[in-house]
Amino acid sequence: MRCIQVVGYHRNLEMTEIPIPIPTDPYDVVIKIGGAGVCRTALHILEGQWAEKSRVQLPYTIGHENAGWVYAIGSAVTNVQRATR
Ligand SMILES: [Zn+2]
Repeated sequence: MRCIQVVGYHRNLEMTEIPIPIPTDPYDVVIKIGGAGVCRTALHILEGQWAEKSRVQLPYTIGHENAGWVYAIGSAVTNVQRATR
């Protein structure tokens, strides 16, 4: 799957391929992203302003304001189910 990553502070973001995540915890829910917003938090990470406090490890896949469809669920998840599309 494609993702956008911070590969270095004060550098352009890079689009890269990473493995599709799979649930590793019984309560995991994997979402197929349909859209992702970029907020000031993302820019703070890119600028390295929280590098010491957040301990972000680079490369870092950016995006935390996402919307999409349930792609996979862990064995204990009961309140959502895999989307049919
Ligand atoms: Zn945000």
